[in-house]
Amino acid sequence: MNTDNKISNDKLHIQTIAVHAGYNSESREGDIMQPIHLSTTFERKPGGEINEFIYTRSSNPNREAVEKKIAAIEGGTEAFAFSSGMAAINALFENILQPGSHIIIPDDCYHGTRNLVEKFFSRWQVNFSEVNMTDTNNVAAAINADTKLIWMETPSNPQLKISDIGTMIALGKKHKITVACDNTFATSLLQKPLDMGADFVMHSSTKFFSGHSDVLGGVVVIKEKSEISERLREYQQIAGAVPSPFDCWLLNRSLSTFPIRIPLQCSNAMALAQHLSVHPKIEKVFYPGLPTHTNHAIAAKQMLGGFGSILSVLVKGDKEDAMRFAGRLKIFKHATSLGGVESLVEHRRTAEGAHPISPDNLLRVSIGIEYIDDLVNDLMQALK
Ligand code: PLP
Repeated sequence: MNTDNKISNDKLHIQTIAVHAGYNSESREGDIMQPIHLSTTFERKPGGEINEFIYTRSSNPNREAVEKKIAAIEGGTEAFAFSSGMAAINALFENILQPGSHIIIPDDCYHGTRNLVEKFFSRWQVNFSEVNMTDTNNVAAAINADTKLIWMETPSNPQLKISDIGTMIALGKKHKITVACDNTFATSLLQKPLDMGADFVMHSSTKFFSGHSDVLGGVVVIKEKSEISERLREYQQIAGAVPSPFDCWLLNRSLSTFPIRIPLQCSNAMALAQHLSVHPKIEKVFYPGLPTHTNHAIAAKQMLGGFGSILSVLVKGDKEDAMRFAGRLKIFKHATSLGGVESLVEHRRTAEGAHPISPDNLLRVSIGIEYIDDLVNDLMQALK
């Protein structure tokens, strides 16, 4: 068995990298697809010297393969897989922030990220500013002497706000502040923050990377090796929030098809956004692909070949009207999460807990790979 990442160094397209990177069988059996290595412990050499793997919390062939594949897909030097997106964010924050640090997050951030900063990092006296990042000047105004991290999420969850990655990175560099991007919504097919100069990219691999709503995971990808990246490797081993071999194997398999799933999901989303934006029962559609979106021009500049497959809508009326619409849908399932092959709809305010940021009539819609006419018909019958 050989997990050398030979593929990543070649100038290949992401579709090829997503199939081949990370695993290259040289086993006796010659498995074309990597087997699942369930063993938690690995035998040492006769003299006690370690082989490639020691113990699965430290590393495992399946985790190594998926990390190499994700690093290659994202254009980074190394990736670090965790047991959930939140575990990945926590790992990064714990290794960048110090007691008394200040962090800038978007005002429309995934509520779990905000919760983490507010509820847990407050115990370290970490302060945070919630900023409307659609204008970089707001971020510049929030920087202070303790600012250690600018955390971007673009498009944001759930209002699909777009921040200008290039100007944000320039700002970070000017003030020597680490810039990291939650790239979950766009994915590495559509958006490459590391190529633009970001220090770290994070994904909830539960979403588009997994793509089938059946594996929880998170990943941090680094631009360059640094003290922080060394700590991240150590942190995986010491803190232990790592994914199981089976989860890594599932994720690895799912990644092979992600570059062909996303374009279809994007074109479905664009078509639905257009239908919904002219519907008399819809007050507003948030989708960066629509020319009416506030930062459509920036999205068009930094998102390559598509605008993602998440959109949010304000249903005319109140929460009951929104819920009635969601309840009438037949193909779209009413559930949280996003990025899967199946279309989902969710009333976000209900999910946001103690600090709701979404209007009461907002529904977030995750568009899958179903046939577009069926999706349009389902939405139209539910809006009747
Ligand atoms: N980041 C974004 C943008 C998300 O939408 C989510 C979850 O919905 C997370 C991070 C957290 O990921 P996980 O649920 O895998 O912990």
